[in-house]
Amino acid sequence: MAELNYMREADILRLLDNPNTLPTIEWTDIATVHDDRRALLVTSPSAETQFGNLSHNFNFSDHRMITGGDAEYIDHLIKDKPDTSVMYAVGGGRVIDIARLLASRWEMEVTAIPTIISTDALFVKSTGVRENGCVHYVRSKRADRVLLDWNLLRLSPQTLNAGGCCDVLSIYTAPWDWNLTETRQAWKKPNEHYTPLVAEQAAGILNYLLSHADEIRAMSYAGLESIVRSLAMEVELCNVHGNSRCEEGGEHFFAYALEPHLPHTTHGELVGLGILVTAYMQGQPWQNMREFMDTIGMSYRPKGISEQRITQTLKIMQAYVTQHNLRYSIWNEYIYNESASQEFLRTINL
Ligand SMILES: [Zn+2]
Repeated sequence: MAELNYMREADILRLLDNPNTLPTIEWTDIATVHDDRRALLVTSPSAETQFGNLSHNFNFSDHRMITGGDAEYIDHLIKDKPDTSVMYAVGGGRVIDIARLLASRWEMEVTAIPTIISTDALFVKSTGVRENGCVHYVRSKRADRVLLDWNLLRLSPQTLNAGGCCDVLSIYTAPWDWNLTETRQAWKKPNEHYTPLVAEQAAGILNYLLSHADEIRAMSYAGLESIVRSLAMEVELCNVHGNSRCEEGGEHFFAYALEPHLPHTTHGELVGLGILVTAYMQGQPWQNMREFMDTIGMSYRPKGISEQRITQTLKIMQAYVTQHNLRYSIWNEYIYNESASQEFLRTINL
């Protein structure tokens, strides 16, 4: 106990520079925010339209329009360093994910202004990079601050904001895979010892979100705030614990396998479907998740999805998770079977 009471200067400095903290999160009316500093705007065509006249409150001297997400595209962006030290990232998950990576490489301050709450990319300090048909995460930086404007966010379709629930709903399936790994010693990676306390805390965050179904369906301020809060809590739990096993498991891996074949869809739709499929394969009830998604208007039918595409993905899943060295999950033990697959498709009836 004495050690706990006595902190060395180095420990205090480490705490002050705590790498686990979230960005500053502020609900505000962007129309009242002004910044005269020369800044870079990182955005997408649709987000720029949605941001509209609000951009006049800032001194944007340069901009980058994000239209891709693979490693080659991002490398190309990194080489074109702008002559500013301040960045605003205005858009959805992909824009903010890539902007934080650019800000990290260019050592810039970055403020994120989401136009949709589509993933947990707002709060994390890594960036998902698409390469060789999979997603891997590279260290970037967290946003220095996140500005949330209720009037801006509600301009986005209900289904897109509802999709932001995906990275909290994944707590339904991810800890199951994490727990499975505990009994598969040969496959366990050094830093993934199953921690019931973390799994219970994650379940608490999931239940908090589930209890706000009515507010999310109405897309009220309270509904959007419950999505933001639960995503922030989920990210902070992963930060403190040191990995994302309580939030990322087989449902994300199924989504990663599908994504290259369905380029015009969203993370929320892919992970939403991944949760239903993975819960089924785990032998967990999946209907309650589907009911929640239906209630809040979250899509789990990615654009371009078909029974044939699902079947093709099921056929490759075991090889896919092995090939990409993904963390152990139900998919490592899944063996495709034609009649079982047909039964699954009939049951889930997408
Ligand atoms: Zn995710």
